[in-house]
Amino acid sequence: MATVLDGKLLAASIEQRLAAVISAGKGRAGRPPGLAVLRVGEDPASGVYVANKEKACARVGIRSFGQHLPAETPYAQLHTIVEQLNADQQVDGILLQLPLPKGLDEGPLLAAINPDKDADGLHTLNLGRLLKGETGPRSCTPAGVMALLATAGVNLEGKRAVVVGRSILVGQPMALMLQAANATVTVAHSRTRDLATLTRQAEVLVAAAGCPRLIGAEHVSKGVVVVDVGIHRLPPDPQKDLKGRLCGDVRFEEVEPFAAVITPVPGGVGPMTVAMLLVNSTVAWCHQHHLGLGTIEDLLV
Ligand code: NAD
Repeated sequence: MATVLDGKLLAASIEQRLAAVISAGKGRAGRPPGLAVLRVGEDPASGVYVANKEKACARVGIRSFGQHLPAETPYAQLHTIVEQLNADQQVDGILLQLPLPKGLDEGPLLAAINPDKDADGLHTLNLGRLLKGETGPRSCTPAGVMALLATAGVNLEGKRAVVVGRSILVGQPMALMLQAANATVTVAHSRTRDLATLTRQAEVLVAAAGCPRLIGAEHVSKGVVVVDVGIHRLPPDPQKDLKGRLCGDVRFEEVEPFAAVITPVPGGVGPMTVAMLLVNSTVAWCHQHHLGLGTIEDLLV
């Protein structure tokens, strides 16, 4: 039986620590941390994600400066809003909720965010800092995975790790973080031949392909640590559920019997992504007000 990692529980304990740090530092800073989530258009999943992020901010004492703009908002207006948020003394973190509506290019908008306020850790400078091992805001999802693994006592030193997916959002920064923890990392992607042969060599397998239930028993070896980043809503089954249940990139019921450690969907990586967004915003606030907590690691101990 695998150990099933509880991302919800770890996220809740990180939130508790953040709430204590914020409450202790608020007096000296003269204000709480602020996070601005910019949402454009009506993508329904984004609506749920943004609402969850704002609720999480409220739980720890971070002020939300959410803006929801219509899909037809011109690029120039969005750019101006980003610049206003960059200059706003109340705002420590800025997040551009993706995906943007068709026709809007996210690249220049992400690049316009002040790298020190980059709550998602996706700015080119911050990805470069990650590559070079310098401190800076880290991409939330892979940082959340690393925190989950560290808390569970998974030793990555010298382990063979395979990351399935090479996106800038998840796969690439994940591979860099695993490498920084001294794992030997291979990145698989949509053009990889014979995925199962590769993934069976993994001692640590991170599935971030965005393909529902891609990874099954044929992809894993006994004793593997499996992290399922994928999140998908399956079509509703009128006999069982009306809404459609959530699943990941892993066929949990098939893989769990082989795994030493596994993350569930929901309740694994998802809550950790939100927790790391709060961490990035709080670390930026601490920097701004010289409150002593300088890095993500400081907030996780
Ligand atoms: P993406 O579509 O940008 O990238 C997917 C990557 O997987 C690509 O590099 C592609 O080459 C690779 N890939 C696709 N099919 C493959 C296959 N059959 N075999 C091997 N590689 C394959 O997706 P993303 O933004 O990186 O997100 C990946 C998944 O993680 C999605 O399901 C997304 O919803 C989820 N996600 C979850 C969280 C969370 O908090 N849990 C956060 C971000 C993304």
